[in-house]
Amino acid sequence: MEKVVLVGINSQFIHTNLAIRYLKNYVEKYSSLKIELYESNINNQIQSIITDLFRLNGNHYIFSTYIWNKEYVFSIIKELKKIMPHITVTLGGPEVSYNVKESLIENKCIDFVLVGEGERVLLNFLTNENKNQKGVAFLKSGEFVYLGDEFPIENLDTIPFPYNDEELKENIKILYYESSRGCPFSCSYCLSSIDKGVRYLSFERVKSDLKRFLDSGVELVKFVDRTYNLRKDRYLGIWEYLLENYKEGVTFHFEINANIFDEEIIAFLKKVPDGYFQFEVGVQSINKETMDSINRRNLLERLRNNIKVISKNIHLHVDLIAGLPYDTYDTFKDSFDYVYDLDAEMIQLGFLKILSGTKIAGEIEKYDYKYIEFPPYEVLSNCFIKYEELVKLKNVEKMLDYYYNSEKFKYSVKFIIENYYNRPFDFFEDISNYYDKQNLLGLGHKVVTIFNNLVKFFEEKNFQGKNIFIEYLKLDYLLLGKPGVYPEWFISNKDKEKYNNIIIEKDFISSREGYKKTEFEKFNYDVLNNKNGEIEIFFNYTKKKTILETF
Ligand code: SF4
Repeated sequence: MEKVVLVGINSQFIHTNLAIRYLKNYVEKYSSLKIELYESNINNQIQSIITDLFRLNGNHYIFSTYIWNKEYVFSIIKELKKIMPHITVTLGGPEVSYNVKESLIENKCIDFVLVGEGERVLLNFLTNENKNQKGVAFLKSGEFVYLGDEFPIENLDTIPFPYNDEELKENIKILYYESSRGCPFSCSYCLSSIDKGVRYLSFERVKSDLKRFLDSGVELVKFVDRTYNLRKDRYLGIWEYLLENYKEGVTFHFEINANIFDEEIIAFLKKVPDGYFQFEVGVQSINKETMDSINRRNLLERLRNNIKVISKNIHLHVDLIAGLPYDTYDTFKDSFDYVYDLDAEMIQLGFLKILSGTKIAGEIEKYDYKYIEFPPYEVLSNCFIKYEELVKLKNVEKMLDYYYNSEKFKYSVKFIIENYYNRPFDFFEDISNYYDKQNLLGLGHKVVTIFNNLVKFFEEKNFQGKNIFIEYLKLDYLLLGKPGVYPEWFISNKDKEKYNNIIIEKDFISSREGYKKTEFEKFNYDVLNNKNGEIEIFFNYTKKKTILETF
């Protein structure tokens, strides 16, 4: 029997490829075929992936192709065909589904492209000798052959659960899960806006799938439903099931529209244990003309109120997109400050991608879009924002990752913004200018260097109140865990005798163990209550989150 290998090249080691698992399980359920999975990521060397694929000795190699791996996959198949000229190479996935003909012409190593939803197309493709099937495109004597799209699967329950027990037990990666397909919204830059229908797994099926996650001890399950909270009876029912079956240590992530929460939903969400749910909220822009142009509607006041209430126990990631129509550098600052005020765990600053098939791809001339014409198709400029302004926002994004999303500077950066800046954006812009001036932007930095750079920035700005700032920075530093090194600016002020006594009182196996897993420090400013006066803090690192005790 011919050997079929399904290949998923992820963007990071921590990711799992959901698509290849669905495809394998579906084909194996409805045929006698066996499929081998191969998974790697774009941070691995191409040569080692090619060697792995060669050793698998397959006849058919089928690649799942996305915006982040297209170039990589194209390079792999070119080399693979040199050493395995007899193999058939097939590509599927969103990155080839909208440019089928171009992909086949551009890369002669591709034998077939599978278009659209993969499960049924792949099953037909592998079980029929005649490859001229719906959803399958190829070139014959240089002519493009395509019979048209296959119908989507009506009943999603017919697609098996993607993970096996061993994968669930491994528990080292993010597991993705899909309880619905499709999105009813029409955001102009998004590929999911093209197909309007939404299909759902049955409630019973979702419950049984979630039970498998809950029973297995996984830590993070990300729902990839394009907008999770569409039908209230259904999405609330799933959440209620998760709450009834609460398990400590696991987090469920959902992409949600926070505009549409009503009082009942808010009341429910307040009951969810801290960290059990994580929400991703796409704000993208608060500029009215921009929102109108991209077909998104944010009820800003309501969104803010909803998020502020639920952010006490629900972890939040909020998204912004730079380079949208009518958004200038200045209007983008307003969006930035708006999301900063929401107190989310993470602000994801993305840059518009001009994707074929989207409405915005039809507006290239209208808005004078310049963009990179290969993946990731990112915008370079338009008639509202210049290239150099987008570069500045890229630098701001880097600073945002260092000084906000890392969650390592919660106290010190808040202190700086509240005391020396009129608006949060200005701090991130200012420090990115500092990094730029010092030629630090292109470099990777260790955590301690990022702390040191903040001190140097503070000194260069000549801000008053360095002694208080350093106390906040010490607090941030000690919250990370028992320090391996104490930087120059960290002058310890602890009462050693008191620390010894605390260790003796605590229930550690040995005092050595106690010192290893704790720290004690005296602060000359009450950094927990933001007022004058000393405070002594005992840091206990024995749990996932550092526990603080004050004296
Ligand atoms: S951006 Fe989100 S809400 Fe808008 S069309 Fe795409 S998936 Fe749907």
